[in-house]
Amino acid sequence: MKIQYLGTAAAEGIPGIFCTCERCVRSRRIGGRALRTRSQAIIDDKLLIDFPADTYAHILNNNIDLANVYHCLITHSHQDHLYPKDIRMLEPGYATMPKDYHLTFYGTEKVGEQIRPMLAYKLEEKNISAFREVEPFACFEAGEHKVTALPAVHDQSAGPVFYQISDGYKNMLYAHDTYYFHDSVWSFWEKEKPYFSLVSLDCTNACRPITTYKGHMGLHENIQVRDRMVEEGYADDKTVFVCNHFSHNGIKVVYDDFVPIAIREGFVTSYDGMVISV
Ligand SMILES: [Zn+2]
Ligand SMILES: [Zn+2]
Ligand SMILES: [Zn+2]
Repeated sequence: MKIQYLGTAAAEGIPGIFCTCERCVRSRRIGGRALRTRSQAIIDDKLLIDFPADTYAHILNNNIDLANVYHCLITHSHQDHLYPKDIRMLEPGYATMPKDYHLTFYGTEKVGEQIRPMLAYKLEEKNISAFREVEPFACFEAGEHKVTALPAVHDQSAGPVFYQISDGYKNMLYAHDTYYFHDSVWSFWEKEKPYFSLVSLDCTNACRPITTYKGHMGLHENIQVRDRMVEEGYADDKTVFVCNHFSHNGIKVVYDDFVPIAIREGFVTSYDGMVISV
């Protein structure tokens, strides 16, 4: 199973689109892995996760042909994960796609409220694209992958879930955006007893301690999640744990500063374009 990280930042990107803070200035100067676009990943070259405005840059930078991608999971409706207007670029006149091409989007009701109006112009009646609503804890098939949505601790008005994804042999967990997992997720795993080969965790705050808003994690909470997952048997020392989804507000968040800190704690630090196979 393979994951490719296409965009690894929160809403404003790193550097922030308008920002001149010390972290953004340094990231701009360093370039390369210090530059992060908005959140997106692709599993096994086929299953897209999220659809931000940066999707266009991602397919160009990574030589991805969306004619090969039939399924797209949406975590929630925040703009760094979903830019619905670009879905209309699938309409005839904007796009010429293979005859049997069909793109299904998956997400909660709140995500559907954003996507359905985009499909209503032409895409649904011409059977080019559809939206499928997901229920937390109900497993569904997205092409060759089996997927389960789990409730996220994040802005509830955005209909947030995160996803566990299986290719039939291995499991990955893609947990963005969320704070430390809800009790119901741990209870679900207690019954299901999954084992994850890769776990990607929200690290928006990097080394900043959580203050008031509990909708994201930092390295401190990533360690707590990892330790509990290992303790309860859902991961072990062979599991790859990745810190991902960074904000310029995070402390020590500049890629070059964060990597050695994350390595010491046993985490891989994501960057745009990073590929991991497990
Ligand atoms: Zn986000
Ligand atoms: Zn900044
Ligand atoms: Zn969000």
